[in-house]
Amino acid sequence: MNVEELKQKVIAYSKEIGIDKIGFTTADVFGELKERLRRQEELQYQSGFEKGTIEERTEPRRLLPEAQSIIAIALAYPTRMKNAPRGTKEERRGIFCRASWGTDYHVVLRERLKKLSDYIKELVPDAITKEMVDTGELSDRAVAERAGIGFSGKNCSIITPEFGSFVYLGEMITNIPFPPDSPIEDSCGDCRKCIDACPTGALVQGGQLNAQRCLAFLTQTKSFLADEFRVELGNRLYGCDTCQQVCPRNKQIDFHHHPEFEPDPELAKPKLKPFLKMSNREFKEKFGEVSGSWRGKKPIQRNAMIALAHFKDKTAVNDLIDVMKHDVRPDIRGTAAWTLGKIGTEDAFVAIEMAMEKETDPQVLYEMEKGLQFQNV
Ligand code: SF4
Ligand code: SF4
Repeated sequence: MNVEELKQKVIAYSKEIGIDKIGFTTADVFGELKERLRRQEELQYQSGFEKGTIEERTEPRRLLPEAQSIIAIALAYPTRMKNAPRGTKEERRGIFCRASWGTDYHVVLRERLKKLSDYIKELVPDAITKEMVDTGELSDRAVAERAGIGFSGKNCSIITPEFGSFVYLGEMITNIPFPPDSPIEDSCGDCRKCIDACPTGALVQGGQLNAQRCLAFLTQTKSFLADEFRVELGNRLYGCDTCQQVCPRNKQIDFHHHPEFEPDPELAKPKLKPFLKMSNREFKEKFGEVSGSWRGKKPIQRNAMIALAHFKDKTAVNDLIDVMKHDVRPDIRGTAAWTLGKIGTEDAFVAIEMAMEKETDPQVLYEMEKGLQFQNV
């Protein structure tokens, strides 16, 4: 069997196992990406979650010396939730971004890639493969772009003609010289809707992301959220879909091909107040399967408090006072104090003043002072 025939067999098999799109590219160095990453490093735009050196991230042969080609895959995920619960005045809700709906996509894509790899090894016993999804060194997006899965939008997503940008990406480096596909000839043109809609101005120079300003990244940090982002956070608990939602290429896009990605509405749009008292174990039991739980409870709990501030939810005041007084983590105590000030009931201000008398952590005291200043607003 020649490599073209093998490629056609792999494509046919990928459809059988529920891969929505597959593309092939060479294992050559990603030169443009290398330049972009260097610029990003200089400008300090990285998230800090990146894996490997710039060389490892752009030179596939550093990861697999025998590399001859890379297979890129994409699975479409839903954008609309059936029976989405609505928050009420007494029970406000937060939102996890769509990439955190259903079973953690890393698990699902890894399983698909493993099946694909097993299949290739059945046909070519001396095949070598190395699979990656999101957390690997290679850039899923750069691979997908070069393999013809989609083009790179100004919102930094890969936009496929079939499924818009709501696709999960994964890849496999192989030692088989599969004939490469061509990149898609398409672009955003004059559109700049995502740049204008980004609440924090994180999309710079069209196609470059300043992760330090991107809410998707900031929702995953564990310490205090900088003041300038607290209002913009709204009720986001994990991730941010704004720059994808406004994209005209995503109009009417909503694919339900994979039961694994169907959201449990109570996990995708959970009530906010229960996060205040949730133990680590309860959090793991309830949210452990979704990708948005990978950083643990703390960032989500902090974001839930900021969301309660956004709603000025007076029904949360008592629980917030408890958190401010008793939580052992200064960032959580401080955020609770700020939230109490933002909600702004008389009880809340009195509680902050009393707690200040016992508080010793300077950062928490600073948040308490900020909370009290809302009295004068
Ligand atoms: Fe801006 Fe949100 Fe897109 Fe980040 S994910 S670039 S914050 S719109
Ligand atoms: Fe491109 Fe417009 Fe979509 Fe942004 S909103 S990614 S500029 S098409």
